[in-house]
Amino acid sequence: MSRPTIFLTGCAGFIGSNFVKKIAAHETDYQFIIIDALTYAGRKQTIQPELDKYSHLSFAQINICDKESVSQIFNDKKPVGVLHFAAESHVDRSITNPNIFVETNVLGTLNLLNSSIKTMDVQSDFRFLHVSTDEVYGSLTEDEPPFSEQTSLKPNSPYSASKAGSDLLVRSYVETFKLNAVITRCTNNYGAFQFPEKLIPLMILNATQGKKLPVYGNGKNIRDWIYVDDHNRGIWQAFKKGRSGEVYNFGGNSEKRNIEVVKTILKSLNKPESLIEFVEDRKGHDWRYAIDYTKSTRELSWQPTVTFEDGIQKTVEWYSNNAQWLEMIKKVN
Ligand code: NAD
Repeated sequence: MSRPTIFLTGCAGFIGSNFVKKIAAHETDYQFIIIDALTYAGRKQTIQPELDKYSHLSFAQINICDKESVSQIFNDKKPVGVLHFAAESHVDRSITNPNIFVETNVLGTLNLLNSSIKTMDVQSDFRFLHVSTDEVYGSLTEDEPPFSEQTSLKPNSPYSASKAGSDLLVRSYVETFKLNAVITRCTNNYGAFQFPEKLIPLMILNATQGKKLPVYGNGKNIRDWIYVDDHNRGIWQAFKKGRSGEVYNFGGNSEKRNIEVVKTILKSLNKPESLIEFVEDRKGHDWRYAIDYTKSTRELSWQPTVTFEDGIQKTVEWYSNNAQWLEMIKKVN
């Protein structure tokens, strides 16, 4: 009997490629099809070793905004599930070009949802997992309690607003069409294979090259950092065990000011703090993110396992040893 098919959207990018390497590669009971448009943020080369090695993994270059192509691959493959990672994901880019964020994150998700509700007629166990972000909850002050799944949505950037829009669409398809779907919301990820526009890889790259490290504002904004493998383990648990219609938060239990993160990187690379350069703050810069993941621990037996100290060390080492990958990802597709 053929193996049930699961679509993995956006898995040539940072979080998804780590999902392919650490989870999908070993889940041989399924046939995984990676659907990715290969934007500036995604490269097939990142997951080529796994595509070559494992016959249960394959790749289709499809833009989720292309309704016909999305509909066709659902019709052809009749998946039992979708893990939806694909998105425009960088806040700064959403400030300079918000339109593509609405196109990919909202309309692209809508295309997947419309094909999903047709597929659930032929695949009764069909399930949709939507990968979202804690940024949909907005920003916390220094003293406010962390976001829980009950926190109201107050997105502040076009990126987080587009993700909140897609979250609400998923919710509406659960209510209206009885789609079996869960939403996960996670704090800031770090680890290997992240495009070097995001804080941690950018700082490692600049420090390695002796360039200035641009830090927004006074550097005191706070993010909760999670090692990417912990996030992906949560996504897979939520896909398998999460209750339909529910949201599951994931966090790293590692709140850090941006400046602390940058200084940790400099220290581990043995570089001077004089490389730090404070630059004009990002527009609408959220002050603090922190997350309460009690529900994920209770219902999914999930909790983060990698400490920031260990994770950042591994990450710094990975970027230091993978200059070729960095050169490849920086080239325009
Ligand atoms: P990324 O930017 O590294 O990768 C996104 C991937 O999606 C790329 O491979 C890209 O080619 C693909 N893609 C973009 N537009 C597409 C389209 N129209 N059609 C098909 N594929 C398309 O992003 P990431 O950091 O890996 O984030 C993955 C998901 O996790 C996103 O939904 C993001 O909102 C969410 N998330 C990210 C973080 C984080 O810290 N990076 C935290 C929480 C949630």
